[in-house]
Amino acid sequence: MTKRIVVVGGDATGMSAASTALRHAPDGDLEVVVLERGHYTSYSACGIPYWIAGDVGDRDELIARSPEQHREAGIDVRMRTEATAIDVEERTVSVRGVDDGDSYELGYDELVIATGAVPTVPPLEGADAEGIFGVQSLEQGEEIVKDLGAGDRRRAVVVGAGYIGVEMAEAMVSRGLETTILDMAPEPFTQVDPDMGALIREAMEGMGITVRTGTSVDGFDVGEDGRVRAVRAGDTVLPADIVIMGLGVKPNVALAAEAGLTIGESGGIATDVRMQAAPGVWAGGDCAEVRHRLSGKGVHIALGTHANKHGRIIGTNIAGGYGAFPGVIGTAISKVCSLEIARTGLGEREASAAGFGYVTASVESTTTAGYWPGAELMTVKLLAEQRTGRLLGAQIVGRAGSAKRIDVFATAIWNAMTVEQMTFMDLSYAPPFSPVWDAVLVAARKAAKEVQAAVPASPV
Ligand SMILES: Cc1cc2nc3c(=O)[nH]c(=O)nc-3n(C[C@H](O)[C@H](O)[C@H](O)COP(=O)(O)OP(=O)(O)OC[C@H]3O[C@@H](n4cnc5c(N)ncnc54)[C@H](O)[C@@H]3O)c2cc1C
Repeated sequence: MTKRIVVVGGDATGMSAASTALRHAPDGDLEVVVLERGHYTSYSACGIPYWIAGDVGDRDELIARSPEQHREAGIDVRMRTEATAIDVEERTVSVRGVDDGDSYELGYDELVIATGAVPTVPPLEGADAEGIFGVQSLEQGEEIVKDLGAGDRRRAVVVGAGYIGVEMAEAMVSRGLETTILDMAPEPFTQVDPDMGALIREAMEGMGITVRTGTSVDGFDVGEDGRVRAVRAGDTVLPADIVIMGLGVKPNVALAAEAGLTIGESGGIATDVRMQAAPGVWAGGDCAEVRHRLSGKGVHIALGTHANKHGRIIGTNIAGGYGAFPGVIGTAISKVCSLEIARTGLGEREASAAGFGYVTASVESTTTAGYWPGAELMTVKLLAEQRTGRLLGAQIVGRAGSAKRIDVFATAIWNAMTVEQMTFMDLSYAPPFSPVWDAVLVAARKAAKEVQAAVPASPV
């Protein structure tokens, strides 16, 4: 008998689950219906800041697969169509057309919740003024591009200096706007420790971006035409022709919570290792909670890298196979202009919160042999567990050619390696690629020394 799969959300997780299920199911065994409230399927939100910056020429390059392409592959994609309620007992979804308001009930055998995340929007005075934008969807990206081209936009203020904030600050600078970025934290980019964040601040200031940290936004001044004029933060009034909000996201769990599904401590939908939230109900991507392999805690980390894996695992399970998500270690990479930023594992605050005793080691190195033309600087910081020397975390801030080294550290953490074991790893070397002692090895050696030095202070 044909089983009906209903997928709510048609981007990374949802379409990956739908395509995988259909690809692996026996012929004619599955009917797959995808409900997507927006205009696009399978697009790279990750590319939006680079498209706005002008690095990616055409919006359509961000779209991996259009609704039509998915339909040709046999998926019943219903665009501008949203799920408004789920009944897990009856196995039905209430559906409504976004444009025409048409409503109906859709039965399912298996349901995939892939509703993504929603931006954090504090209730600030004037926050709904024209000229203030989030960057959560391709539609919002389009609005920003349109707005930038619609008038004399000279000053941009970016609220929030997380990874989307710094990428958008780069986009604004690339488009020639005088750019200020604000954050309430003492240093930008709280995904890394403050000492590494200070390096990011220094580099951003060197690029002409004004960085105001320790600064909370109180509201927005709005002109009589309804358009934002300035951002207010304490006694400071920052004139703004355009404001970009990048205050982070939270899992979009409204439907799941109303349906009685378990919401984890991190705010994401709780699932088992196969990404099953309840019998016949699967959840993954930005709306779901995942397990951190080091802290053991449930965490919400909204990244495309996880979303695509979740989708594939869910699709495999629905098609009758076996897929299990092994958890995350918090690996991420970003850039602002020529500065690269990467992290994996735990930062100092996270390591302390998880109860780890740790040592740290920071080194400066170059991306290539020092004598190679164009050698660039980088700083690498490691956290290693006290006594055992297990690598707990790594952070890199440096110029072009530095940040992808994070994947070596991620692999080491994934395999529970100690910094001592990393010291003599057989890594590649030639002058155009690294110094003979690559930053990875130098940092590991320094961290191993710190672990040794801390031993006498530790009881057995
Ligand atoms: C600007 C930006 C830059 C990013 N950069 C990176 C990066 O460099 N690296 C990285 O790994 N990740 C990055 N990400 C994160 C990455 O894009 C997300 O993790 C990924 O898109 C999550 O996929 P998802 O399918 O879980 O959710 P989404 O992509 O958010 O898709 C959810 C979909 O569900 C739809 N939906 C929601 N509710 C309903 C409903 N009730 N009915 C019907 N449809 C519904 C939404 O319209 C949406 O299309 C970035 C994100 C943004 C916004």
